[in-house]
Amino acid sequence: MIRVRFAPSPTGPLHIGGVRTALYNYFFAKQNGGDFVLRIEDTDSSRFVPGSEEYIIESFKWLGIKFDEGPHVGGNYGPYRQSERREIYRKYVDELLAKGLAYYAFDTPEELDAMRARLEAEKAPSLQYDSSTRLAMRNSLTMSRDEVKFRLDGGEQYVVRIKIEPNQTVVVNDLIRGEVAVNSSLLDDKVLWKSVDGLPTYHLANIVDDRKMKISHVIRGEEWLPSAPLHVLLYHYLGWEDTMPKFAHLPLLLKPDGNGKLSKRDGDRLGFPVFPLEWTDPKTLETSCGFREMGYFSEAVINILALLGWNDGTEQEIFSINELIEKFSLDRVSKHGAKFDVQKSAWFNHQYLLKSSTEMLTDLFTPFMHANAAVPIFERKTLEKIIDLVKERVNFVHEIWGQSHFFFIAPTIYDETVVKKRWTPETPDILTKFADLLEKESDFSSENLEKITTDFIKTNNYNMGQVMNCLRLCLVGAAMGPHLNDIMAIIGKNETVQRIRTAVSTI
Ligand code: GLU
Repeated sequence: MIRVRFAPSPTGPLHIGGVRTALYNYFFAKQNGGDFVLRIEDTDSSRFVPGSEEYIIESFKWLGIKFDEGPHVGGNYGPYRQSERREIYRKYVDELLAKGLAYYAFDTPEELDAMRARLEAEKAPSLQYDSSTRLAMRNSLTMSRDEVKFRLDGGEQYVVRIKIEPNQTVVVNDLIRGEVAVNSSLLDDKVLWKSVDGLPTYHLANIVDDRKMKISHVIRGEEWLPSAPLHVLLYHYLGWEDTMPKFAHLPLLLKPDGNGKLSKRDGDRLGFPVFPLEWTDPKTLETSCGFREMGYFSEAVINILALLGWNDGTEQEIFSINELIEKFSLDRVSKHGAKFDVQKSAWFNHQYLLKSSTEMLTDLFTPFMHANAAVPIFERKTLEKIIDLVKERVNFVHEIWGQSHFFFIAPTIYDETVVKKRWTPETPDILTKFADLLEKESDFSSENLEKITTDFIKTNNYNMGQVMNCLRLCLVGAAMGPHLNDIMAIIGKNETVQRIRTAVSTI
Protein backbone atom coordinates (compact mmCIF):
# COMPACT_ATOMS: atom_id res chain seq x y z
CA MET A 1 0.00 0.00 0.00
CA ILE A 2 1.38 3.39 -0.98
CA ARG A 3 1.09 5.92 1.83
CA VAL A 4 2.76 9.30 1.65
CA ARG A 5 2.65 12.30 3.89
CA PHE A 6 3.09 16.02 3.63
CA ALA A 7 4.60 17.06 6.94
CA PRO A 8 4.88 20.83 7.28
CA SER A 9 5.91 22.60 10.44
CA PRO A 10 3.48 25.36 11.43
CA THR A 11 6.10 28.09 11.36
CA GLY A 12 4.41 30.57 9.02
CA PRO A 13 2.87 30.61 5.58
CA LEU A 14 3.49 27.72 3.24
CA HIS A 15 6.18 28.46 0.65
CA ILE A 16 5.34 27.37 -2.91
CA GLY A 17 8.27 24.94 -2.68
CA GLY A 18 6.28 23.21 0.06
CA VAL A 19 3.16 23.25 -2.08
CA ARG A 20 5.11 21.57 -4.88
CA THR A 21 6.36 18.91 -2.45
CA ALA A 22 2.77 18.26 -1.40
CA LEU A 23 1.62 18.07 -5.02
CA TYR A 24 4.27 15.52 -5.98
CA ASN A 25 3.24 13.44 -2.97
CA TYR A 26 -0.39 13.78 -4.02
CA PHE A 27 0.20 12.81 -7.67
CA PHE A 28 2.25 9.82 -6.58
CA ALA A 29 -0.33 8.66 -4.04
CA LYS A 30 -3.31 9.04 -6.35
CA GLN A 31 -1.54 7.39 -9.26
CA ASN A 32 -0.95 4.35 -7.09
CA GLY A 33 -4.32 4.28 -5.38
CA GLY A 34 -2.55 5.24 -2.17
CA ASP A 35 -3.19 7.58 0.73
CA PHE A 36 -2.08 11.17 1.08
CA VAL A 37 -1.66 12.24 4.69
CA LEU A 38 -1.23 15.67 6.28
CA ARG A 39 0.88 15.62 9.41
CA ILE A 40 1.61 18.77 11.37
CA GLU A 41 5.14 18.67 12.75
CA ASP A 42 4.87 21.05 15.66
CA THR A 43 7.39 19.74 18.17
CA ASP A 44 9.42 22.95 18.10
CA SER A 45 7.17 25.24 20.08
CA SER A 46 9.66 28.12 19.83
CA ARG A 47 9.03 28.33 16.10
CA PHE A 48 5.26 27.92 16.27
CA VAL A 49 3.33 30.65 14.47
CA PRO A 50 -0.41 30.80 15.16
CA GLY A 51 -2.61 30.49 12.11
CA SER A 52 -0.10 28.47 10.07
CA GLU A 53 -2.02 25.20 10.20
CA GLU A 54 -5.26 26.89 9.19
CA TYR A 55 -3.37 28.62 6.39
CA ILE A 56 -1.97 25.32 5.13
CA ILE A 57 -5.40 23.68 5.13
CA GLU A 58 -7.01 26.68 3.45
CA SER A 59 -4.29 26.69 0.76
CA PHE A 60 -4.97 23.11 -0.25
CA LYS A 61 -8.68 23.71 -0.16
CA TRP A 62 -8.20 26.54 -2.64
CA LEU A 63 -6.01 24.31 -4.80
CA GLY A 64 -8.63 21.57 -4.69
CA ILE A 65 -6.18 19.04 -3.26
CA LYS A 66 -7.75 16.70 -0.73
CA PHE A 67 -5.95 14.86 2.01
CA ASP A 68 -7.14 11.36 2.88
CA GLU A 69 -6.04 11.80 6.48
CA GLY A 70 -5.03 14.76 8.58
CA PRO A 71 -5.89 16.87 11.61
CA HIS A 72 -8.85 18.39 9.78
CA VAL A 73 -10.27 15.14 8.35
CA GLY A 74 -9.20 12.50 10.88
CA GLY A 75 -8.09 8.99 9.91
CA ASN A 76 -6.96 5.70 11.39
CA TYR A 77 -3.43 6.74 12.26
CA GLY A 78 -4.07 9.92 14.23
CA PRO A 79 -3.63 12.18 15.99
CA TYR A 80 -2.02 14.04 13.11
CA ARG A 81 -0.42 16.81 15.15
CA GLN A 82 2.85 15.74 16.72
CA SER A 83 2.19 17.83 19.81
CA GLU A 84 -0.79 15.56 20.46
CA ARG A 85 1.33 12.42 20.13
CA ARG A 86 3.85 13.17 22.86
CA GLU A 87 3.29 9.96 24.85
CA ILE A 88 4.05 7.89 21.75
CA TYR A 89 7.67 9.00 21.42
CA ARG A 90 9.22 8.60 24.86
CA LYS A 91 9.45 4.82 24.81
CA TYR A 92 11.71 4.93 21.75
CA VAL A 93 14.00 7.40 23.47
CA ASP A 94 14.18 5.04 26.43
CA GLU A 95 14.88 2.13 24.10
CA LEU A 96 17.78 3.97 22.48
CA LEU A 97 19.12 4.99 25.90
CA ALA A 98 18.86 1.42 27.16
CA LYS A 99 20.72 0.09 24.11
CA GLY A 100 23.49 2.67 24.60
CA LEU A 101 22.63 4.24 21.24
CA ALA A 102 21.68 7.55 22.82
CA TYR A 103 22.79 9.43 25.91
CA TYR A 104 21.73 12.18 28.29
CA ALA A 105 23.44 15.54 27.93
CA PHE A 106 23.25 18.30 30.52
CA ASP A 107 25.27 21.01 28.80
CA THR A 108 23.80 24.48 29.08
CA PRO A 109 23.56 26.77 26.03
CA GLU A 110 26.53 28.73 27.45
CA GLU A 111 28.59 25.56 27.71
CA LEU A 112 27.75 24.66 24.13
CA ASP A 113 28.82 28.12 23.00
CA ALA A 114 32.04 27.76 24.97
CA MET A 115 32.65 24.39 23.31
CA ARG A 116 32.32 25.93 19.86
CA ALA A 117 34.53 28.89 20.79
CA ARG A 118 37.20 26.54 22.12
CA LEU A 119 37.09 24.36 19.01
CA GLU A 120 37.25 27.42 16.83
CA ALA A 121 40.28 28.72 18.71
CA GLU A 122 41.92 25.31 18.35
CA LYS A 123 41.11 25.44 14.63
CA ALA A 124 39.44 22.08 15.05
CA PRO A 125 38.20 20.53 11.78
CA SER A 126 34.65 20.38 13.10
CA LEU A 127 32.66 22.36 15.68
CA GLN A 128 30.11 19.60 16.17
CA TYR A 129 28.94 17.78 19.24
CA ASP A 130 30.12 14.36 18.11
CA SER A 131 32.47 11.47 18.85
CA SER A 132 35.46 13.82 18.75
CA THR A 133 34.04 16.28 21.29
CA ARG A 134 31.41 14.56 23.41
CA LEU A 135 33.89 13.12 25.88
CA ALA A 136 34.81 16.65 26.93
CA MET A 137 31.21 17.56 27.69
CA ARG A 138 28.71 17.05 30.52
CA ASN A 139 26.77 13.97 29.53
CA SER A 140 26.01 10.44 30.60
CA LEU A 141 29.08 9.22 28.71
CA THR A 142 31.38 11.27 30.93
CA MET A 143 29.46 11.11 34.21
CA SER A 144 28.96 8.26 36.60
CA ARG A 145 25.61 6.50 36.66
CA ASP A 146 24.94 7.94 40.08
CA GLU A 147 25.63 11.46 39.00
CA VAL A 148 23.31 11.10 36.04
CA LYS A 149 20.61 9.66 38.27
CA PHE A 150 21.13 12.42 40.79
CA ARG A 151 20.70 15.11 38.16
CA LEU A 152 17.67 13.47 36.60
CA ASP A 153 16.03 12.97 39.99
CA GLY A 154 16.81 16.57 40.85
CA GLY A 155 14.85 17.69 37.81
CA GLU A 156 17.84 19.16 35.96
CA GLN A 157 17.07 20.03 32.32
CA TYR A 158 18.62 17.69 29.79
CA VAL A 159 18.47 16.56 26.23
CA VAL A 160 18.92 13.09 24.80
CA ARG A 161 21.41 12.87 21.95
CA ILE A 162 21.90 10.10 19.44
CA LYS A 163 25.29 8.43 19.78
CA ILE A 164 26.87 8.21 16.37
CA GLU A 165 29.94 6.05 15.92
CA PRO A 166 32.56 7.63 13.66
CA ASN A 167 33.83 6.33 10.34
CA GLN A 168 30.85 4.22 9.40
CA THR A 169 29.32 4.49 5.96
CA VAL A 170 25.66 5.40 6.05
CA VAL A 171 23.84 4.82 2.79
CA VAL A 172 20.68 6.62 1.77
CA ASN A 173 19.01 5.16 -1.28
CA ASP A 174 17.25 8.02 -2.91
CA LEU A 175 14.78 7.47 -5.74
CA ILE A 176 15.92 10.68 -7.42
CA ARG A 177 19.58 10.88 -6.52
CA GLY A 178 20.46 7.21 -6.38
CA GLU A 179 22.78 5.97 -3.66
CA VAL A 180 24.08 8.71 -1.36
CA ALA A 181 26.84 7.45 0.94
CA VAL A 182 27.93 9.55 3.90
CA ASN A 183 30.70 9.02 6.41
CA SER A 184 29.16 9.07 9.87
CA SER A 185 32.04 11.23 11.16
CA LEU A 186 30.36 14.10 9.33
CA LEU A 187 27.18 13.71 11.34
CA ASP A 188 26.69 15.26 14.76
CA ASP A 189 25.03 13.73 17.77
CA LYS A 190 21.68 15.36 17.13
CA VAL A 191 19.28 16.06 19.94
CA LEU A 192 16.37 13.61 19.88
CA TRP A 193 14.50 14.73 22.99
CA LYS A 194 14.28 17.82 25.16
CA SER A 195 13.22 17.64 28.78
CA VAL A 196 12.24 21.29 28.77
CA ASP A 197 9.00 20.62 26.91
CA GLY A 198 8.95 16.82 27.10
CA LEU A 199 8.90 16.58 23.34
CA PRO A 200 11.07 14.87 20.77
CA THR A 201 12.84 16.90 18.13
CA TYR A 202 11.85 16.77 14.49
CA HIS A 203 14.19 13.88 13.66
CA LEU A 204 12.86 11.39 16.16
CA ALA A 205 9.21 12.38 15.86
CA ASN A 206 9.48 12.25 12.07
CA ILE A 207 10.73 8.68 11.85
CA VAL A 208 8.52 7.37 14.64
CA ASP A 209 5.47 8.83 12.94
CA ASP A 210 6.49 7.61 9.50
CA ARG A 211 6.63 4.11 10.95
CA LYS A 212 3.45 4.40 13.02
CA MET A 213 1.57 5.91 10.11
CA LYS A 214 2.88 3.19 7.77
CA ILE A 215 4.42 5.70 5.38
CA SER A 216 5.86 3.92 2.34
CA HIS A 217 7.59 6.85 0.62
CA VAL A 218 9.11 10.01 2.04
CA ILE A 219 8.99 12.61 -0.72
CA ARG A 220 10.33 15.92 0.55
CA GLY A 221 12.52 18.89 -0.26
CA GLU A 222 16.23 18.62 -0.83
CA GLU A 223 16.90 20.67 2.30
CA TRP A 224 16.17 17.46 4.23
CA LEU A 225 18.74 15.37 2.39
CA PRO A 226 21.45 16.18 4.98
CA SER A 227 19.13 14.78 7.68
CA ALA A 228 18.39 11.58 5.78
CA PRO A 229 21.54 9.68 6.94
CA LEU A 230 20.57 10.40 10.53
CA HIS A 231 17.08 9.10 9.82
CA VAL A 232 18.50 5.96 8.19
CA LEU A 233 20.72 5.42 11.23
CA LEU A 234 17.72 5.77 13.53
CA TYR A 235 15.88 3.12 11.52
CA HIS A 236 18.87 0.83 12.03
CA TYR A 237 19.23 1.68 15.73
CA LEU A 238 15.56 0.90 16.34
CA GLY A 239 15.67 -2.23 14.19
CA TRP A 240 13.06 -0.88 11.82
CA GLU A 241 14.85 -1.60 8.53
CA ASP A 242 11.84 -3.64 7.42
CA THR A 243 9.58 -0.60 7.30
CA MET A 244 12.09 2.02 6.30
CA PRO A 245 10.29 4.16 3.73
CA LYS A 246 11.81 4.85 0.34
CA PHE A 247 13.24 8.35 0.10
CA ALA A 248 12.92 10.90 -2.69
CA HIS A 249 14.45 14.34 -2.18
CA LEU A 250 13.12 16.97 -4.56
CA PRO A 251 15.29 19.66 -6.13
CA LEU A 252 15.10 23.19 -4.79
CA LEU A 253 12.99 25.93 -6.29
CA LEU A 254 15.47 28.58 -7.34
CA LYS A 255 15.30 32.35 -7.72
CA PRO A 256 14.42 33.54 -11.24
CA ASP A 257 18.13 34.12 -11.98
CA GLY A 258 19.01 30.65 -10.74
CA ASN A 259 21.20 31.93 -7.90
CA GLY A 260 20.02 30.27 -4.74
CA LYS A 261 16.78 29.23 -3.14
CA LEU A 262 13.62 31.15 -3.97
CA SER A 263 12.75 33.35 -1.00
CA LYS A 264 9.98 35.64 0.10
CA ARG A 265 12.33 38.56 -0.50
CA ASP A 266 12.69 37.63 -4.20
CA GLY A 267 8.93 37.68 -4.48
CA ASP A 268 8.67 41.11 -2.84
CA ARG A 269 11.54 42.44 -4.96
CA LEU A 270 10.25 41.14 -8.28
CA GLY A 271 6.56 41.45 -7.58
CA PHE A 272 5.41 37.84 -7.62
CA PRO A 273 3.99 35.67 -4.87
CA VAL A 274 5.90 32.87 -3.18
CA PHE A 275 2.88 31.84 -1.11
CA PRO A 276 -0.36 30.28 -2.33
CA LEU A 277 -2.55 32.70 -0.36
CA GLU A 278 -2.06 36.11 1.13
CA TRP A 279 -0.50 35.94 4.58
CA THR A 280 -0.37 38.48 7.36
CA ASP A 281 2.36 37.85 9.89
CA PRO A 282 0.62 37.84 13.29
CA LYS A 283 3.59 39.56 14.97
CA THR A 284 4.73 42.20 12.50
CA LEU A 285 1.35 42.48 10.72
CA GLU A 286 3.34 42.54 7.51
CA THR A 287 1.29 41.16 4.61
CA SER A 288 2.71 39.04 1.80
CA CYS A 289 0.76 38.53 -1.39
CA GLY A 290 -0.51 35.15 -2.53
CA PHE A 291 -1.13 33.50 -5.90
CA ARG A 292 -4.86 33.52 -5.20
CA GLU A 293 -5.03 37.24 -4.52
CA MET A 294 -2.75 38.01 -7.48
CA GLY A 295 -5.43 36.52 -9.71
CA TYR A 296 -3.93 33.11 -10.49
CA PHE A 297 -6.26 30.24 -11.19
CA SER A 298 -5.63 27.38 -8.80
CA GLU A 299 -5.34 24.92 -11.73
CA ALA A 300 -2.66 27.14 -13.26
CA VAL A 301 -0.71 27.19 -9.99
CA ILE A 302 -0.80 23.40 -9.83
CA ASN A 303 0.38 23.21 -13.42
CA ILE A 304 3.17 25.77 -12.86
CA LEU A 305 4.47 24.01 -9.77
CA ALA A 306 4.17 20.53 -11.26
CA LEU A 307 6.56 21.53 -14.06
CA LEU A 308 9.12 23.12 -11.75
CA GLY A 309 11.30 20.04 -11.46
CA TRP A 310 9.37 17.52 -13.52
CA ASN A 311 8.30 16.99 -17.14
CA ASP A 312 6.81 14.05 -18.95
CA GLY A 313 9.59 13.90 -21.54
CA THR A 314 7.54 15.65 -24.23
CA GLU A 315 7.00 19.30 -25.08
CA GLN A 316 3.60 19.29 -23.39
CA GLU A 317 3.21 22.07 -20.86
CA ILE A 318 -0.48 22.24 -20.05
CA PHE A 319 -1.56 19.38 -17.82
CA SER A 320 -4.85 18.91 -16.05
CA ILE A 321 -4.67 17.52 -12.55
CA ASN A 322 -5.87 14.15 -13.82
CA GLU A 323 -3.14 14.08 -16.41
CA LEU A 324 -0.59 14.91 -13.75
CA ILE A 325 -1.85 12.05 -11.61
CA GLU A 326 -1.60 9.77 -14.60
CA LYS A 327 1.76 10.91 -15.95
CA PHE A 328 3.81 12.00 -12.94
CA SER A 329 6.80 9.84 -12.16
CA LEU A 330 9.61 10.22 -9.66
CA ASP A 331 12.03 8.94 -12.33
CA ARG A 332 11.48 12.08 -14.30
CA VAL A 333 12.02 14.48 -11.40
CA SER A 334 15.13 16.52 -12.07
CA LYS A 335 18.18 16.41 -9.81
CA HIS A 336 18.81 20.07 -10.45
CA GLY A 337 17.08 23.07 -8.98
CA ALA A 338 14.21 24.53 -10.98
CA LYS A 339 14.14 28.26 -11.67
CA PHE A 340 10.92 30.08 -10.94
CA ASP A 341 9.98 32.07 -14.04
CA VAL A 342 7.63 34.98 -13.44
CA GLN A 343 6.69 35.57 -17.10
CA LYS A 344 6.17 31.89 -17.73
CA SER A 345 3.87 31.70 -14.71
CA ALA A 346 1.76 34.53 -16.11
CA TRP A 347 1.71 32.70 -19.45
CA PHE A 348 0.34 29.61 -17.73
CA ASN A 349 -2.39 31.69 -16.17
CA HIS A 350 -3.17 33.13 -19.60
CA GLN A 351 -3.63 29.62 -20.97
CA TYR A 352 -6.05 28.76 -18.18
CA LEU A 353 -7.87 32.05 -18.66
CA LEU A 354 -8.38 31.20 -22.34
CA LYS A 355 -9.65 27.75 -21.36
CA SER A 356 -12.14 29.23 -18.88
CA SER A 357 -15.76 29.69 -19.88
CA THR A 358 -16.89 33.19 -20.77
CA GLU A 359 -19.59 32.90 -18.10
CA MET A 360 -17.00 32.24 -15.42
CA LEU A 361 -14.72 35.04 -16.60
CA THR A 362 -17.67 37.41 -16.64
CA ASP A 363 -18.57 36.47 -13.07
CA LEU A 364 -14.98 37.00 -11.99
CA PHE A 365 -14.64 40.27 -13.86
CA THR A 366 -17.88 41.86 -12.65
CA PRO A 367 -16.48 42.98 -9.24
CA PHE A 368 -13.52 44.65 -10.97
CA MET A 369 -15.89 46.46 -13.27
CA HIS A 370 -18.05 47.65 -10.40
CA ALA A 371 -14.93 48.85 -8.59
CA ASN A 372 -14.68 51.49 -11.32
CA ALA A 373 -17.17 54.25 -10.71
CA ALA A 374 -19.47 55.56 -13.41
CA VAL A 375 -19.60 52.31 -15.34
CA PRO A 376 -22.89 52.03 -17.18
CA ILE A 377 -24.85 48.85 -16.70
CA PHE A 378 -24.37 46.60 -19.70
CA GLU A 379 -26.46 43.61 -20.50
CA ARG A 380 -24.80 40.37 -19.44
CA LYS A 381 -24.60 39.27 -23.10
CA THR A 382 -22.73 42.43 -24.03
CA LEU A 383 -20.34 42.00 -21.14
CA GLU A 384 -19.64 38.47 -22.29
CA LYS A 385 -18.95 39.73 -25.80
CA ILE A 386 -16.50 42.31 -24.47
CA ILE A 387 -14.67 39.66 -22.47
CA ASP A 388 -14.43 37.36 -25.48
CA LEU A 389 -12.97 40.24 -27.49
CA VAL A 390 -10.22 41.12 -25.03
CA LYS A 391 -9.33 37.91 -23.19
CA GLU A 392 -6.61 37.08 -25.70
CA ARG A 393 -4.76 40.19 -24.47
CA VAL A 394 -4.68 39.52 -20.73
CA ASN A 395 -3.04 37.08 -18.34
CA PHE A 396 -5.29 37.83 -15.37
CA VAL A 397 -8.97 38.63 -14.95
CA HIS A 398 -8.18 41.94 -13.23
CA GLU A 399 -6.28 43.01 -16.35
CA ILE A 400 -9.49 42.86 -18.38
CA TRP A 401 -10.48 46.33 -17.19
CA GLY A 402 -7.26 47.84 -18.56
CA GLN A 403 -8.08 46.33 -21.94
CA SER A 404 -11.78 47.15 -21.98
CA HIS A 405 -12.47 50.39 -20.08
CA PHE A 406 -13.19 52.25 -23.34
CA PHE A 407 -16.24 50.07 -23.88
CA PHE A 408 -17.67 51.50 -20.71
CA ILE A 409 -16.21 55.00 -20.49
CA ALA A 410 -15.53 57.43 -23.36
CA PRO A 411 -11.93 58.61 -23.59
CA THR A 412 -11.23 62.05 -22.17
CA ILE A 413 -7.57 62.16 -23.09
CA TYR A 414 -6.00 61.18 -26.37
CA ASP A 415 -2.57 59.60 -26.66
CA GLU A 416 -0.22 62.45 -27.61
CA THR A 417 2.16 60.34 -29.65
CA VAL A 418 -0.66 58.96 -31.77
CA VAL A 419 -2.11 62.45 -32.25
CA LYS A 420 1.28 63.75 -33.35
CA LYS A 421 1.85 60.90 -35.71
CA ARG A 422 -1.60 60.46 -37.25
CA TRP A 423 -3.81 63.52 -36.79
CA THR A 424 -3.44 65.67 -39.93
CA PRO A 425 -5.24 68.89 -40.91
CA GLU A 426 -7.64 66.81 -43.03
CA THR A 427 -8.58 64.43 -40.21
CA PRO A 428 -11.45 66.48 -38.68
CA ASP A 429 -13.24 66.71 -42.05
CA ILE A 430 -12.77 63.05 -42.84
CA LEU A 431 -14.04 61.95 -39.45
CA THR A 432 -16.98 64.35 -39.46
CA LYS A 433 -17.97 62.98 -42.84
CA PHE A 434 -17.74 59.47 -41.42
CA ALA A 435 -19.80 60.39 -38.37
CA ASP A 436 -22.48 61.89 -40.63
CA LEU A 437 -22.55 58.68 -42.60
CA LEU A 438 -22.84 56.53 -39.48
CA GLU A 439 -25.64 58.65 -38.16
CA LYS A 440 -27.81 57.60 -41.07
CA GLU A 441 -27.00 53.94 -40.68
CA SER A 442 -29.53 51.59 -39.13
CA ASP A 443 -27.59 48.33 -39.15
CA PHE A 444 -24.89 48.67 -36.53
CA SER A 445 -23.70 45.09 -36.64
CA SER A 446 -19.99 44.48 -36.69
CA GLU A 447 -20.21 42.94 -40.18
CA ASN A 448 -22.09 45.86 -41.64
CA LEU A 449 -19.76 48.37 -39.98
CA GLU A 450 -16.80 46.64 -41.52
CA LYS A 451 -18.39 47.04 -44.93
CA ILE A 452 -19.37 50.68 -44.37
CA THR A 453 -15.89 51.60 -43.22
CA THR A 454 -14.11 49.91 -46.11
CA ASP A 455 -16.54 51.40 -48.64
CA PHE A 456 -16.10 54.84 -47.08
CA ILE A 457 -12.33 54.65 -47.40
CA LYS A 458 -12.45 53.24 -50.93
CA THR A 459 -15.01 55.65 -52.37
CA ASN A 460 -13.22 58.65 -50.98
CA ASN A 461 -9.81 57.38 -51.90
CA TYR A 462 -8.56 57.76 -48.38
CA ASN A 463 -5.62 56.07 -46.88
CA MET A 464 -6.79 53.13 -44.72
CA GLY A 465 -4.22 53.65 -41.96
CA GLN A 466 -4.92 57.30 -41.61
CA VAL A 467 -8.67 56.90 -41.17
CA MET A 468 -8.54 53.85 -38.96
CA ASN A 469 -5.87 55.10 -36.60
CA CYS A 470 -7.63 58.40 -36.05
CA LEU A 471 -10.98 56.69 -35.63
CA ARG A 472 -9.43 54.45 -33.01
CA LEU A 473 -8.08 57.50 -31.25
CA CYS A 474 -11.61 58.96 -31.10
CA LEU A 475 -13.19 55.77 -29.76
CA VAL A 476 -10.46 54.41 -27.50
CA GLY A 477 -8.13 57.34 -26.84
CA ALA A 478 -5.06 55.26 -27.68
CA ALA A 479 -3.64 52.81 -30.20
CA MET A 480 -5.06 49.74 -28.49
CA GLY A 481 -8.05 47.46 -28.35
CA PRO A 482 -9.83 44.96 -30.59
CA HIS A 483 -11.33 45.55 -34.05
CA LEU A 484 -12.99 48.93 -34.44
CA ASN A 485 -16.14 47.39 -35.94
CA ASP A 486 -16.53 45.30 -32.83
CA ILE A 487 -16.04 48.32 -30.58
CA MET A 488 -18.53 50.42 -32.55
CA ALA A 489 -21.08 47.62 -32.60
CA ILE A 490 -20.90 47.25 -28.84
CA ILE A 491 -20.95 50.91 -27.82
CA GLY A 492 -23.68 51.60 -30.40
CA LYS A 493 -24.46 54.34 -32.86
CA ASN A 494 -25.07 57.30 -30.56
CA GLU A 495 -21.97 56.73 -28.50
CA THR A 496 -19.80 56.15 -31.57
CA VAL A 497 -20.94 59.30 -33.31
CA GLN A 498 -20.66 61.33 -30.14
CA ARG A 499 -17.12 60.10 -29.45
CA ILE A 500 -16.04 61.04 -32.97
CA ARG A 501 -17.54 64.52 -32.71
CA THR A 502 -16.08 65.10 -29.25
CA ALA A 503 -12.61 64.08 -30.40
CA VAL A 504 -12.83 66.28 -33.48
CA SER A 505 -13.70 69.29 -31.36
CA THR A 506 -11.12 68.50 -28.64
CA ILE A 507 -7.95 67.44 -30.45
N1 GLU B 1 8.61 19.12 9.16
C1 GLU B 1 9.49 19.07 8.02
C2 GLU B 1 9.23 20.34 7.22
O1 GLU B 1 8.79 21.28 7.79
C3 GLU B 1 9.17 17.83 7.22
C4 GLU B 1 10.31 17.24 6.51
C5 GLU B 1 9.91 15.84 6.05
O2 GLU B 1 9.04 15.77 5.17
O3 GLU B 1 10.42 14.88 6.57
O4 GLU B 1 9.48 20.43 6.05
